[in-house]
Order: sequence, then structure tokens, then C-alpha cells
Amino acid sequence: MAFEGLTERLQNAFSKLRRKGKVSESDVRDAMREIRLALLEADVNFKVVKDFVKEVREKAIGSEVLDSLTPAQQIVKIVNDELVKTMGAEAVPLNKAPHIPTVIMMAGLQGAGKTTTVGKLAKYLQENEHARPLLIAADVYRPAAIKQLQVVGESVGAPVFEMGTDTDPREIVRQGMAQAAANHNDYVLIDTAGRLQIDAKLMQELQDIKEIAHPNEILLTVDAMTGQAAVDVAQGFNEQLDITGVVLTKLDGDTRGGAALSIRSVTGKPIKFIGQGEKMDALDVFYPDRMANRILG
Ligand code: GDP
Repeated sequence: MAFEGLTERLQNAFSKLRRKGKVSESDVRDAMREIRLALLEADVNFKVVKDFVKEVREKAIGSEVLDSLTPAQQIVKIVNDELVKTMGAEAVPLNKAPHIPTVIMMAGLQGAGKTTTVGKLAKYLQENEHARPLLIAADVYRPAAIKQLQVVGESVGAPVFEMGTDTDPREIVRQGMAQAAANHNDYVLIDTAGRLQIDAKLMQELQDIKEIAHPNEILLTVDAMTGQAAVDVAQGFNEQLDITGVVLTKLDGDTRGGAALSIRSVTGKPIKFIGQGEKMDALDVFYPDRMANRILG
């Protein structure tokens, strides 16, 4: 289960505080030491942990909290609020184009869940906005990728624009955009190529596609199971592409939690959706307060 270790360790720290009638400054310091270790073990970015602990400590050590009737309870609330803040406080909705179509360009490393997420997003938009999205297959390096997008498109009932693997992805995107305009599609979802790691050629291609398609959203899919590596990937893509948001996938697995807690602070970009399974309906809007509740257990 996701966050299991983190939840358990945070709860341990809190129950120690609750067992004390009166909480002293040194009790708070002990608890913060435990929380710091719990976060580091959950693979949260070092700087994020440092700032988090500092903020909580400053708010907790003060006569208002320590002299209150329920100090432990208040400290739990401070931790909760800080978790919410670290993850961006509010859910951030999808950017919309003033005129159709709204263009969503997907990016991400191979295996992160990009193609699956394109299908999930199409379904989400169909159900929530009665949208008619067109999916563009611009990953020409893996022949199976086009087929996979077609399978995904078929399962959610969304058309897929493809030109096989012999056409340059830039040209595919150009023609796909023209098709969307002709068909009055209100959304265009572009599935781009992934790689095992960030490389210059891929980034150039993605930058070119960005220039051609003028996306309203560049959503990066990252795999929550990869922890800090997911954060590094997000930072790398953001530096080169100026992404608008992140889809954090595989939160149904037993991820330790680091990516969910670090991405916003490290990249400045919001997590907009989370993937919680392989099925097409396993996509949810990311709400920082709900995620904090889940982490605290
Ligand atoms: P891409 O290479 O980035 O396009 O990745 P795919 O969409 O092909 O996904 C790679 C694998 O991850 C597939 O087996 C997907 O079914 C799986 N996957 C994608 N998103 C999720 C998720 O949220 N949870 C789980 N458990 N698996 C996922």
C-alpha cells in the first residue's frame, strides 16, 4: 500500500506526543527528529524535508501550542497543514484554450504511463465535459506505441490520428492538428515518444512539437514508484520544456511517497492528476488535502 511506512512512522511520533500530558519543547524536538527521518526514508527530497521540519517546528514550539489543552492534537494539525501546503494547497484545474481545441501534450519517460494516461484523460474529459477529444499518435520509435494508443482509444471510444512510423512526428502533429480543426474536436491529446532517460534529441523533438501545437497543457507523467528519480525527471523536463503540470502514476502500488511530497516544491509545477491503476477509470484529480489525509492515515 502507498505511504505505508511513512504513515506508520508519523503515527508513532504522534502517539508518543499524545501519551505525554504536557508537551515540552524537547518533546517537540524529539518528535520532529522522528518526522524528519520518516520523510527521508519515504524518499522525500532533502531540501523539502528540511524546510518542512523547520516550518512545523517553528509553529509548534510556542506557548500557544505547548500551553494549550491539546498540544499533541495541535501539532498533528500543524503537520497536516504543512503537508497540504508542501503539495500545493489547492487542486489546480486543467488550462483551457479560449477557442477549441484545448491542446494537451503528454511527455514522460518510457514506461511511466504516458499512453495509458492519454486514454484515461480522454475518458475523464468525455465524462466530465462531454468532450470529443482527438488522440494523436506521435511516438514513432516504438511500433507498438501506435497500436497501444489505438487500443486505448478504442476502449474509451476516442478517435486516434496516426500516420504510421515512417513520418516525422512534427508532421504527424501538424496534420493531426489540422484534422482536429476540421472535425471540431474540442480537445487534442498528443502522445509523444518516451525514452529510457532524458536525451537531447528527444527534448528537441518535444520542443518542436510544442512550437507546432501550442499546447495549453504540457503534462508530464512520472512514475511514483521511482521516488526521487521521478522528481529528477520532472525537474529535467521542466527545465527544457516548461511543463504545466504533472500526472503522478502508479500511486496504487506501494510507493513510499517521496515523489508526491517533493514534486511541487522542487519544480514549482503542480501535480494535476494521479494514476491509481491500469484501468481507464483509474485517474483522479490531485487534491493536496486528500493526499495529506491519506499520508497521515
Ligand atoms: P508509456 O511508455 O509512458 O506510454 O507507459 P504505458 O502507458 O505503456 O504504461 C506502462 C505500464 O504501466 C503499463 O503496463 C500500464 O498499464 C502501467 N500503468 C500506467 N499507469 C498506471 C497506474 O496508475 N497504476 C498502475 N498500477 N499501472 C499503471
